[in-house]
Amino acid sequence: MRNLIALIACCFAMATAGATDPHAAAPGAASEHAAAAEPAKSIIPSIKPSLVPSLAAAAQRAKEDDAEVDLSAKIAARLAVMRANQVARAAAAAKARKIAALKKQQQAAAAVAPPPPFHSDTWSYEGETGPAAWGKINSAWTKCGAGNRQSPIDIRDGIKVELEQIVFDYKPSSFSVTDNGHTVEVDVSPGNYITVQNRTYELIQFHFHRPSEERINGKSFEMVVHLVHRDAEGKLAVIAVLLERGKAQETIQAVWNNLPLEKHDTVSPSVVLDVNDLLPERRDYITYMGSLTTPPCTEGVLWMVMKQPVQASPAQMAVFSRLYPLNARPVQASGGRVIKESN
Ligand SMILES: [Zn+2]
Repeated sequence: MRNLIALIACCFAMATAGATDPHAAAPGAASEHAAAAEPAKSIIPSIKPSLVPSLAAAAQRAKEDDAEVDLSAKIAARLAVMRANQVARAAAAAKARKIAALKKQQQAAAAVAPPPPFHSDTWSYEGETGPAAWGKINSAWTKCGAGNRQSPIDIRDGIKVELEQIVFDYKPSSFSVTDNGHTVEVDVSPGNYITVQNRTYELIQFHFHRPSEERINGKSFEMVVHLVHRDAEGKLAVIAVLLERGKAQETIQAVWNNLPLEKHDTVSPSVVLDVNDLLPERRDYITYMGSLTTPPCTEGVLWMVMKQPVQASPAQMAVFSRLYPLNARPVQASGGRVIKESN
């Protein structure tokens, strides 16, 4: 009896396998099943009547299995779509993370990168905006830090030659006085000239420094006047007149009389001023090529320093020192420049 049940179970299995196995129709698979079913063949006829309902149930199950397979396939397909979506989402997230990381990296790089060149018109003679920083304050002022033809210098070892006389063509002129925050500047009306080395330069303005910026053999003077000239091509020539303590100086007094009350103010008096009065009696001078001594420290400036100082009274010196106790750029490297000096 146990054997019979086993055989029936085997037949069920065969029937089910035949219905569900998609390979059942294949010749190889069919022969395999045929071989496996062979021992049951002789028994099937004797049990056939009782097997009919069971076979119908098996067919039903096969149908259900088919539906299940179908559903599984659909689920698998759906899962595949979901998985694909998941992969796509993960890839998108990874890409976003990568972009964010790159952005962060760029921001970090920007944070450590040197700041763009600082632009300011603020400079002074002391502290953070003092002469050592001028070249870094404004990108247009790099010569102040990196130039090799800068002024002032300590003038020594001049080559003694017969320098041609500077021809002065100054005349009484109207003027205005400005306290520009760095010095007292006197602008003179057009028509004042010097001629030297076959070039004619027109006087634009003169101003004062305390102590003198230039030194002669290491010696500085109490003050200096710089007379700034420009020729038709824009080339600059500066005449320096050193001031020492002595008797009162008329032109300086005329300027002091018209000092503005506030910084950056300008006074334009009705009187005239003769710049000839500022010049020393002897016109011997020392000459070399240098620069402006204030930002932007432009080079290519012809300097002529009068060897004989001019006197100004202690009271006149004191007036300027109240406004500007120190407005002199330190001496710069002469860098083997040729210095020529009147005999
Ligand atoms: Zn100057």
